[in-house]
Amino acid sequence: MNDEQLQRYSRQIMLPDFDYQGQQSLLHAKVLVIGLGGLGSPVALYLAAAGVGTLVLVDDDQVDHSNLQRQIIHGESDVGTNKAVSAQKSIAALNSEVSVIVLQQRLAGETLDQQVRDATIVLDCSDNLVTRLAVNKACIKYQVPLVTGAAIRMEGQVTVVDPRQPDAPCYACFMQLVGEQDRSCSTNGVMAPLVGIIGAIQAMEAIKVLSNLGQPLVGKLLLLDAKTMQWQTFGVAKEESCPSCGLN
Ligand SMILES: [Zn+2]
Repeated sequence: MNDEQLQRYSRQIMLPDFDYQGQQSLLHAKVLVIGLGGLGSPVALYLAAAGVGTLVLVDDDQVDHSNLQRQIIHGESDVGTNKAVSAQKSIAALNSEVSVIVLQQRLAGETLDQQVRDATIVLDCSDNLVTRLAVNKACIKYQVPLVTGAAIRMEGQVTVVDPRQPDAPCYACFMQLVGEQDRSCSTNGVMAPLVGIIGAIQAMEAIKVLSNLGQPLVGKLLLLDAKTMQWQTFGVAKEESCPSCGLN
């Protein structure tokens, strides 16, 4: 790190548990962000500001006027532009040192495998269950940690999957327990700051995993009901019969 970087990240480096080593681990990380919508906006902005070395931004969708209410990485002039391209522009303005790779596509199959394998950590900020389960599977296959988040109406959830820990449950283990419907913001609605809260937690968990700081939400599902501002944490064990990480 040069003097300018030491100064830029000084408020993090002065944290004793994080230190110079923590900042170095962010600088060397290649973080895959899947989806640059409501969750991906704060995730990409905070990780760029915090000093992650490389961000791989994936989205096949264009910015729509109805996205601006909550997808704060995009502005009015970005309507009609691909979301990953638009996010890259905002990140360049915030921290030009971050190297950004843009993929204007929906990750699946071979390309999903390739991107997950090359990543230090994956942040799932997608808006659908099919993608979340596919990303979860790829992360298990290549033993890459995953921070997955979801937000709808006034409710949100976050968990961390760390396949490097043999006894840790995966995203599908949780879904077997709590049950998950594939609900979309376009039909159910979502309150603007909710995605900011959940996305910021995802960014925080990613920084913790990357820098080996504190206790990430591995084996725990954090749930928020923003109407009452009640937080709940459910612990879950690995499901032997889990279709994604189970023995068979
Ligand atoms: Zn599982």
